[in-house]
Amino acid sequence: MWAITPLCLGVTTVWRGGFIMKQGPESSERFDVPHTAFLLQDEAAGRKILVDAGISGDLEWSSRHHNPIKREPDQYLIPALARCHTRPEELEMVILTHLHWDHAKGVLELPAAIPVYVQRSELFYALDPCPPDAKHYETNVKDELPYFLKYYHQLRLLDGEKTITEGIRVIPLPGHSPGSQGIVVETKNGPYVITGDLINCMENWTKRIPAGICHSLNDYYQSFAKLESLEKQGAKILPGHDFAVFDMLPT
Ligand SMILES: [Zn+2]
Repeated sequence: MWAITPLCLGVTTVWRGGFIMKQGPESSERFDVPHTAFLLQDEAAGRKILVDAGISGDLEWSSRHHNPIKREPDQYLIPALARCHTRPEELEMVILTHLHWDHAKGVLELPAAIPVYVQRSELFYALDPCPPDAKHYETNVKDELPYFLKYYHQLRLLDGEKTITEGIRVIPLPGHSPGSQGIVVETKNGPYVITGDLINCMENWTKRIPAGICHSLNDYYQSFAKLESLEKQGAKILPGHDFAVFDMLPT
């Protein structure tokens, strides 16, 4: 049985409209959101898996190219894992919800032998995204190999739903990006779904409002429907950028 620990890997001040699709003055309000990764542990079996890896590299550079980021010393990936008594070499694998920089660039902090699971459709899109999406994959940065190609040898490409190991399966949840996936984790408190940025904040879910960063509205609402059926079966929904997860799960 797995236990889920959320890790706060920094805080960003964002436009509300970017995270919760809204019209009018509300969309230009700013608020703080956490960058969250999730450590999955099966203590009895001594197994550890990381879901998403957060940001990496020069914070000042990232704050200029994206939104301003604040990071306490213990919000860097390796110290955050250490707080959970975890050395990076102990991680069996990383599962990425999607390849956006703030979820996937942190893989560069980890040992280069760790397998990294991602949907094939997400990688293909990241290589040649529509222009407004390029900054989310940093493919708009000239003369620089995109971060996700720096760990290309680690990538394990998935085609749709798959059981990764007992108690952990991935399900496609496209909408925010074409190859976004959710991770369904069985715990002693029932199943949880780590939703990445399909559900940035609980408000995206409770009011069924897509994120401002939306690749396909049609996919988005089909993914909402998929989550609704999982919720009916008892699954709890974990957003990717909401402080609420730190109350929902032990830290
Ligand atoms: Zn994203």
